[in-house]
Amino acid sequence: NDLASLMGVSVNDVISACLSMGIFVSINQRLDAETITVIADEFGFDIEFSTSEEESEAINTEDDIEDDEPRAPIVTIMGHVDHGKTSLLDYIRKTKVTAGEAGGITQHIGAYDVETSGGNKIAFLDTPGHEAFTAMRARGAALTDIAIIVVAADDNVMPQTKEAINHAKVAGVPIVIAINKVDKANANPNKIKEELSQINILVEDWGGKYQCQEISAKTGQGIDDLLEKVLLEAEILELKAKASKKAVGSVIEASLDKGRGYVATVMVQNGTLNIGDVVLAGSHFGKVKAMFDHRGTRLKQAGPSTPVLLLGLDGAPQAGEKLNVMESDREARDIAYKRQQIQREQNLRTKKHITLDEIGRRLAIGSFRELNVIVKGDVDGSIEALADSLLKLSTPEVQVNIIHKAVGQISESDVLLASASDAIIVGFQVRPSSSARRLAEQEEIEIRLYSIIYDAINEIKDAMEGMLAPEF
Ligand code: GDP
Repeated sequence: NDLASLMGVSVNDVISACLSMGIFVSINQRLDAETITVIADEFGFDIEFSTSEEESEAINTEDDIEDDEPRAPIVTIMGHVDHGKTSLLDYIRKTKVTAGEAGGITQHIGAYDVETSGGNKIAFLDTPGHEAFTAMRARGAALTDIAIIVVAADDNVMPQTKEAINHAKVAGVPIVIAINKVDKANANPNKIKEELSQINILVEDWGGKYQCQEISAKTGQGIDDLLEKVLLEAEILELKAKASKKAVGSVIEASLDKGRGYVATVMVQNGTLNIGDVVLAGSHFGKVKAMFDHRGTRLKQAGPSTPVLLLGLDGAPQAGEKLNVMESDREARDIAYKRQQIQREQNLRTKKHITLDEIGRRLAIGSFRELNVIVKGDVDGSIEALADSLLKLSTPEVQVNIIHKAVGQISESDVLLASASDAIIVGFQVRPSSSARRLAEQEEIEIRLYSIIYDAINEIKDAMEGMLAPEF
């Protein structure tokens, strides 16, 4: 999707180009450098990667130092809506979190860490649903070590269950199945296991390799066992880090907080983050002013697999962006500004006005909700008829708005209005004035001219329908 936007071509074309090379991709998929170069070449573009050598030199991740200390697993809970993801996250948070310092107020910061009864640590991403997981992955943040897939025992393996399983599989993240709501009278865990086996998820007590635990997020039944199974899975992964390194982390969420400025929840993945560290996160930077855990406890430092709420950044980085500790303020600022510059340029290049061809692309991105149209015509009657028919093309996905309709030639002011409101102009039995035509070219406003109402309606209908919500 990003690549298609940058090149100004449709997502479908990029996906087809990938397919023709034998690469099956989805719209949000992140491509590797080589694939990007080859695909761009297909469309006649040269690729220049913006992470320059200087940048990677400045961001010294100390890869040469061996990670030889065990670290806690980072876990994401996924599954179908209403199967109990939030309840499970809440139950674990409520029961497994040791009390914080007096005065600390538990807050939702997008992640938390717990200590199990056995004294082992687990960090949870508190952003249920696999959208967050996918968004992170799309930015290259391989943050999750283990995925718990929740399935309600009184329901079925649902489309989102399968999707979550697929996302975890594609990411190479081990899965632990939690069959939830077993406290309910109509719970049927065996049916769930049966359904899972049909999608090649054979659970352990059925002779398969997937660990599975029956739980109730309501009563707490089985949750200790579930956490033990997660730890078992983690042991196999031999997760390692080195606390003495400079911290490397990923942004989980970020926002502007009244009074505190920009706050970001960061999962420290390796090394130790300290108060006073100069950090770079995406295109933002700053000095760590304060850190808190989800209990509201102030922290001086945070080691591997620790989520922290961080104060001190000069903006809100996006979820999934990497956080690095930099040597100096200046270095951090230089890279942050350079990245901001690149972002601005990309935004400029991708901010195009709407055209009928553009509709399909925007629909595919999912950002398209309204089609604004200006109707000009030779007589009142036909304008009304055309405007009415266009309005009726509205679908649940896309609302057609007639923002202006009038008798007469298409004028400069029509073009300016279209430019300001991102509209297309439909002319029926009229033409643009030459100055309007020039302005439209300059502003890249689409003007469609028709002499048959039927044609106008059909073309716009096709643009909206032909490409409506491509399925990937
Ligand atoms: P999510 O959409 O996956 O986050 O699901 P929720 O955690 O919001 O749960 C959906 C509904 O199921 C809520 O009404 C919960 O109270 C209920 N629920 C979740 N877990 C259990 C459980 O183990 N037993 C019972 N009886 N109800 C549960």
